[in-house]
Amino acid sequence: MDTAANPLPPEGGSHARDEGGAGPSRALGAGRFGLRLALWYAVVFVASALAIVFLTYTLLAGSLTERDHQIVVATLREYSERYETGGLGAVARAVEIEQRSGRHERLFVRVVRNGAETLFASMPPEWSDFDVSRLLGRNGFWEQALSGSREARLEVATGRLFDGTLLQVGKSTESREELLARFRTVAVLVSIVIVVTGLAGGIVVTRSTLQPINGLIRAVRHIIRTGNTETRVPVQADRDAIDELSALFNTMLDRITTLIEGMGHALDNVAHDLRTPMTRLRGLAERALQSGDPAAQREALATCLEESDRILSMLDTLMDISEAETGTMRLNRANTPLEPLIGEVASVYEDVADDKHVTIATHVEPGLAVSADRDRLRQVVANLTDNAVKYTPGGGRVDISAARDGDRVRIEVADTGGGIASHDLPRIWERLYRGDQSRAERGLGLGLSLVRAIVTAHGGTVDVQTEIGKGSKFVVEL
Ligand code: ADP
Repeated sequence: MDTAANPLPPEGGSHARDEGGAGPSRALGAGRFGLRLALWYAVVFVASALAIVFLTYTLLAGSLTERDHQIVVATLREYSERYETGGLGAVARAVEIEQRSGRHERLFVRVVRNGAETLFASMPPEWSDFDVSRLLGRNGFWEQALSGSREARLEVATGRLFDGTLLQVGKSTESREELLARFRTVAVLVSIVIVVTGLAGGIVVTRSTLQPINGLIRAVRHIIRTGNTETRVPVQADRDAIDELSALFNTMLDRITTLIEGMGHALDNVAHDLRTPMTRLRGLAERALQSGDPAAQREALATCLEESDRILSMLDTLMDISEAETGTMRLNRANTPLEPLIGEVASVYEDVADDKHVTIATHVEPGLAVSADRDRLRQVVANLTDNAVKYTPGGGRVDISAARDGDRVRIEVADTGGGIASHDLPRIWERLYRGDQSRAERGLGLGLSLVRAIVTAHGGTVDVQTEIGKGSKFVVEL
C-alpha cells in the first residue's frame, strides 16, 4: 500500500472551494493547528536556548566576581603578614615591587591609622576618580567606592592589623564589567540567531509533520466530496506513527470498499432471487381474483400463505448467506463442544429418518471442542444432515462424525444416497441451485450456499466426496 491506489488530486485552494462552507474553515483549522505547532516548537526551543545563555551569563558574572574577591583577599592576607614581620616599610616595598613588575592585577592599597590618618596609599592613576575618602574609617569586606563619571565601582576589603591599624585592599569592577558587557553583546546576537532559527525550525518541522496529516485530510475530503472510496493515502516506507495511521486508514478504506461492494452484490442477488417467487405469488393472487370462485380463492389464499412463508424463510437464509459472504455476519465465537451439538442435530432428524427407514449414527471424539459460533455451527451440521436424510432412500444410513485432524477439527456427514451427478457437482454450492434429481424433494437450493458461507466466515473449508449410486460425504474442516 505504499502507493496510492487512486492518486489524490493535487493540493491546492480549489479543494477548499469544492467543500462549500465546511472546506475553508477546515483548511483554516489545519493551518491554525500548524501555526500553533510551529509557535510551540519555537517558544520551547527559544526559551530553553535563552535559559542556557542566561545561565551561562549568571555563572560567568559570579565566577568573575569570585575571582576578583579571591585576588583582593589573598593580597590583603599577604600584606598583613608583611606588616607583622616588616612593618609599614615592608608593605610599601612590596607594593612598589609588584607595581613595577607589572605581573599582578592592579590594586588599591591603603594603610590607615586611628580610622582617619592615611599612613600609606597606592592607587593606579586611572582610578583616581573613585571617592575612597568615604571608606577611611570603614572596616569590613566589599565596601564600595563610587566614581562620579563611570559605572564601575571600587570594591574594598579591610583588615585590622595586630596594632589596630587598618589595611585596605581594593579592586575596580571595571575589567570584569567590560568582559560582561562584551558577553552581553554577543549574547544578544546569539539570541537573535536562536529566535530566527527557532521560528524557521518550527516552520520546517511543522510542515514536514503536517504533510502526511494533510494527505489524510485531503483523502477524507476527496471521499466525502466524491463518495469514491478508491482513494488511498500515500504511505512512506520508513513508517512513523502518522504513516501507521495512514496505513490503517487505507486498510479501513479497503474494508469499507469490500463491505460496500459486498452489500451491493447481496442486495442485487436478493432482489434477483426474490423476483421469481414474488412473481409466482402475484400470479397466484391474480388468477384467484379473476376466477371469482370462492372455493378456488380460499385455496389460492392458503397457497399464497405457504408461498409467503417460503419467501420469508428464503429471505432470512439469503440475508444470512449475504452477511456471511460479505463478512458482516456477527459470529459469537466460543469454545463449542461437538458431542452435544451433533447429538442435538441427530435427535432432531431422528423422526424423519425413522419414517424413511434411514439410520442416523454419530461418532464424536469425546471432549472434542472447536472455537465457533454455536448456533451457526449447528445450522451447518443441520443443513448437511437434512440433505443427507433427504437424499438417502429407505434402508440407507447417515453417519455424522467429528474428529481431531492435526490442529484442525473435521466434521463429516456421510450418507448412502444416490450421490451427486457430475454435471451438478460444480454448481451445488450456488445460491438457489437444485440438482435435477432433487426437484421431487422439498428445498430452496440455499442449504449448501449457507453452509459454505458460514464455514468460510469461520475461516474453515467445506468439500464433498461423492459417488453415483453409493453416496456422498460432506467434509467440514475448522
Ligand atoms: P436443496 O437441498 O434445498 O436442493 P442445497 O443447497 O442444500 O439445496 O443442495 C443443492 C443440491 O445439491 C441439491 O439440490 C442436491 O442436488 C445436491 N445435494 C446436496 N446434498 C446432497 C446429498 N447428500 N446427496 C445428494 N445430493 C445432494
